[in-house]
This record gives sequence, C-alpha cells and structure tokens, in this order.
Amino acid sequence: MAISDYQQVLDEITAEIQPLLGQGKVADYIPALAKEDASQFSIAIHTVDGRTFCAGDCSKRFTIQSVSKVMTLTLALQRYGDELWQRVGKEPSGTAFNSLTQLEFEKGIPRNPFINAGAIVTCDALYSRLSAPMHSMLETFRQLAGNKTIVIDKRVASSEYEFRHRNAAMAHLMKSFNNFDNEVDDVLWAYFNFCAIELNCVELAKAYNFLANKGIDHTSGKEVLTSLQNKQLNSLLFTSGLYDAAGDFGYRVGMPGKSGVSGTILAVLPNKFTVAVCSPGLNSFGNSVAGIAALELLSKKLDFSIF
Ligand code: GLU
Repeated sequence: MAISDYQQVLDEITAEIQPLLGQGKVADYIPALAKEDASQFSIAIHTVDGRTFCAGDCSKRFTIQSVSKVMTLTLALQRYGDELWQRVGKEPSGTAFNSLTQLEFEKGIPRNPFINAGAIVTCDALYSRLSAPMHSMLETFRQLAGNKTIVIDKRVASSEYEFRHRNAAMAHLMKSFNNFDNEVDDVLWAYFNFCAIELNCVELAKAYNFLANKGIDHTSGKEVLTSLQNKQLNSLLFTSGLYDAAGDFGYRVGMPGKSGVSGTILAVLPNKFTVAVCSPGLNSFGNSVAGIAALELLSKKLDFSIF
C-alpha cells in the first residue's frame, strides 16, 4: 500500500467503528476519569520518516495512564540497563494488572514492568536516579512529541493519589520484600503524575516513534534506546502490554502494544510507524473496545504486521 493511502485507511476505520462508540465502560475507579465521554474516538499514525496521519478528534488530549509505563521503563533502562531485571520480571502476568496475590506469591518481584506493581517498582528505581522525576518525564514527552504545551492533568493525578490504596498496598508489599527504596507516597505521586500526562493521539504516536525506529528519535537523530534494548522492549510489549489480554491482542492485531485505562492504546509496526488510538469505553480486560477494533481493522486493511 502506498504511504499516501494511510489517511484513507484511517478515515475508513473511523467510519467503520462508529457502531462501537459508546460501548464498554469508562474507567470509574479513578473518579476524575469517570467523567469522560465513552463515545470519543481518535486514531493517528506517525511514520518513521516523519509523516503524520490522523482521523477522528485529533486534537483531543487524554491522560495516557498505563501507556506512560513504557516511557518509565525506557528512562529506567537508560540508567540501569540489565540491572533493572533484578527487581522486575519479563513474563506475562496471567492475572489482573493490579493483583496483590501474585506479588505476594512471587516474593515482591512483579511479573513484568507493565502491570501496576512492575511499573511502580520501575518508577521507584527511576526516582532514585532523577532529581526532578516529574519534570524529567514531562520534558521527555514534550521533546519527543515536539510540543512544549504538553502538561500533566493535576486533577487526574490528585484523584488517583486520593484513591491510591491498592497501588500503595503493592508498594508496601514490595518494601516488605526489600524491593522498594524510596518513600511509598513520594513514588506513587510521581507514578500518578506520569499516568496523568495528557497527549492527543498524534503526540502519543510521535513520542513513541523511536520504538518503530530501532530506538532512534528520527526528529533529533538521538538514540533513546539501543537497538537491542528497543527490540527487547517491543518483545515485552508484545507479550505483556495489554494486561491479561495480550494474547488476544497479539492474535488480532499482530503488533506490540500498550494500553491504558483511559482507553488509549499505542501499537508499533517496526521500521514503519507507531499508531495511537483513543476511545474511553473499555472491555472487561480494561482495554478500549473501539481502539482494539480499530487496530485490528488497520492490520487487516494494510495487511502487514510484525509476522
Ligand atoms: N494510573 C492507573 C493505575 O495505576 C494506571 C492503570 C492503567 O492504565 O492500567 O491504576
């Protein structure tokens, strides 16, 4: 398919998923997210040679929630390399993203960096190496997405912090197993601020484009991750990026991806593009109903995946 046809494909997808909009349930365990309209939709592609295509409400920003875990891991890998894997595993979880029982059973070493415990311990590691973690994370997104107006939605961060008990329980459990170095509430505040960074789909696809480009940010030419780390991170996304539904996503879409409870999903087609989609109505696994359908349609229409 010629590159100019991406816009046509995104327009077709946006028309075809209309009946799904409003289906699913908006995440309401974070009160500030419960107010989102489930029928919103946008999708954007950013190619490794710098072209952008978008359909739907392209300027609407969403908090990226768990999609931020990919950048947390990226920044931690830059600082720790393989040493990080002493504190967090690489296996799919097979349980809910916020399971406490698995963490207890596995002695405080979370299964992977994309379930909440894994992201929080990665955040703890990062917190030890950054003097201003929230500033560093925000600047990273601003630089990679090429937009200085990107901000943190403090209302969402505060709402998450107020209802932090389950995430706090995980952090305390890890501390009891000596796998947590900093003050729990300090790290959680940083973690929730990372989750509450607001991006639209174009910005999200741009910010993570290095994942499709062997670890290089094509705008600046800078190496964000080594090509080996980039391959490893994409592999982990494929096996663990979609909560407990990574297998189904891999089967239907054939790309590495990461979802968040705001209904955001990022997917990577190596050497071609990153694609970001957002629609807040979630299925029972916490993944966007229309978002997954859109990515499945994209993979079918373009007839390419990583396989
Ligand atoms: N901030 C959310 C939480 O920690 C992220 C969850 C998600 O998007 O999966 O509960």
